[in-house]
Amino acid sequence: MADRDVVVVGAGLAGSTAALFSARHGRSTLVVDAGLVPGGQLFNIARIEDFPGFPQGVAGYDLCPMLQEQAATAGAEFRPGTVEALAPTDGGWTVTSAGEALDARAVIVATGSTPRRLGIPGEERLLGHGISHCASCDGPIYRERAVAVVGGGDSALLETLELVDHVASVTVFVRGAALRGQQTYVSRVEAAENVTVVYETVVEEILGEDAVSGVRTRNVATGETAEVEVAAVFPYVGSEPQTSLVAPHVALDQEGRVPTDGWMRTERQGLFVAGEARSESAAQAVTVAGDGATAAIAAATYLATGAWAPVETSVAG
Ligand code: NAP
Repeated sequence: MADRDVVVVGAGLAGSTAALFSARHGRSTLVVDAGLVPGGQLFNIARIEDFPGFPQGVAGYDLCPMLQEQAATAGAEFRPGTVEALAPTDGGWTVTSAGEALDARAVIVATGSTPRRLGIPGEERLLGHGISHCASCDGPIYRERAVAVVGGGDSALLETLELVDHVASVTVFVRGAALRGQQTYVSRVEAAENVTVVYETVVEEILGEDAVSGVRTRNVATGETAEVEVAAVFPYVGSEPQTSLVAPHVALDQEGRVPTDGWMRTERQGLFVAGEARSESAAQAVTVAGDGATAAIAAATYLATGAWAPVETSVAG
């Protein structure tokens, strides 16, 4: 007999919302998360502008702890720790954390994603020495300095808009011919006086000995290279799903994400995946929260009925 009904892996927006709904459905629920702060990547967003119900926006560091408190008040238990393994048992799954086996009848994996690396010279060496993935944390350090952002999606644009208030100027290097984030961000970035967008240009090297001093760029259309002096680089070039825990148990899609059905069910009985780790996630704060709620409701139904309709998948690993 399992120790509890549901273990949720990950306390980001998807995992914490899953915990809230699971507990409210009367299911004993344990959340295990390796992070130091609740909310995963969203914790560092200074103003989430498109979460319903917050016309002035809401800070990730406000929203995420409130959500965790709400889930805990509903009865969910939160436990810090890295999950090392996931394995099927007779009637459910075992999650191993800090060497301890935690049994549950159902598991909701909400491990999200991590920022994608550029994979260029200077990146590993200068990470934390002028290369940052957190504009709200590190932007104020570069007051009166010129900085660079790499990428043209929502993350790059949102963080550029965060940086403009702190730094002297931002140069955004976009490898395509256009920005491809929300129109509201595009319009504001284009209108910002201290932002220059450089299109069809990739950053090939981050320069500097002990700290970032500049970038070497290449225009992808002309092949022309240039060196640009900046004090910091903020790469926002997409994210990699964190699916190594579930990879031994399910076939992943070509992006390394987990196929699920609309109820967040995977091909394995009792195993749900919610949020950015699953295929076809819209990757918005509101949609990953919705995934978490959906997974918890589906898990509660599964635990009540024992009925499981697994997702059919034909994707290659
Ligand atoms: P994204 O939408 O995948 O955009 C990544 C950007 O980085 C693209 O411009 C891409 O260029 C560029 N890129 C990728 N690899 C590159 C490389 N090696 N060198 C230079 N440029 C490179 O990623 P994201 O902006 O992190 O967003 C991820 C998801 O989160 C999206 O669904 C987004 O809508 C969501 N999000 C939403 C919000 C919000 O406020 N609602 C905020 C942040 C993120 P190409 O176009 O050439 O591929």
